[in-house]
Amino acid sequence: MNTGVDELIRQGVAAARVGEKEEARRHFEEALRRDPDAVAAWLGLSGVVDSPEEKRRCFQRVLELEPENAEALAGLAWLDRQQTPAPPAEVLYCANHPNVETVLRCNRCNKPICVKCAVQTPVGYRCKECVAELQAHFFNAQPWDYPIAAAVTLFLSIFVGAFLPWLVSMLPYGWLFMFFLTPPISGSIAEAARRAVGRRRGRYTWLVASAAGVFGGMLGLVILWWQIGVLPWLTFLIFIVLHASTLSMRLR
Ligand SMILES: [Zn+2]
Ligand SMILES: [Zn+2]
Repeated sequence: MNTGVDELIRQGVAAARVGEKEEARRHFEEALRRDPDAVAAWLGLSGVVDSPEEKRRCFQRVLELEPENAEALAGLAWLDRQQTPAPPAEVLYCANHPNVETVLRCNRCNKPICVKCAVQTPVGYRCKECVAELQAHFFNAQPWDYPIAAAVTLFLSIFVGAFLPWLVSMLPYGWLFMFFLTPPISGSIAEAARRAVGRRRGRYTWLVASAAGVFGGMLGLVILWWQIGVLPWLTFLIFIVLHASTLSMRLR
């Protein structure tokens, strides 16, 4: 019986040597069917089976039979080396700072970005370039829009600044009325400025318009004082504060 096993193992080794794995496997398995403790057959089989699990089982069987078997120990060590290097998590480097590792990506262009380069938006992290590009679409003002918005606000504010605080100051507790009258009137001026620039959005429209509004209102007061000689400072003060804040809020 043992002679047959040795012959099968020899044939298996010969077949494995020329790359006939299936043939080799049949010989080794037949040898093991006849003698399950044939160490050489287990070692031979380990070389022709495909999966690491099968190879491991072969080596473990050898070590059960021969705990010091160098070939099986080396084989298991080799299998361990093959399996341990799990592919490391992808390390990203900021597109703007090549030395800075990061885990963030711009959710619009997918570019890796570090914390410094990331802009947190309501829809997630984005790179500054994408944010600037989107803002360029959002703020579509033309160069002339700022002087136009300033001129419209200035002109209307001179009128309102000259007449509204003065007329209201003649009412009893007039200053109280200013709190109700100013916001809608200033809102109308903001709306007029917005229409004058074709409703285009400018990043600094609110700033230009509220500056022009304050200047126009003061100019109106100066004209009133110069022409009529009155200075309704309390109603004017309430007006100018509410006027500036309404313009900046409505045009922001
Ligand atoms: Zn981007
Ligand atoms: Zn960066």
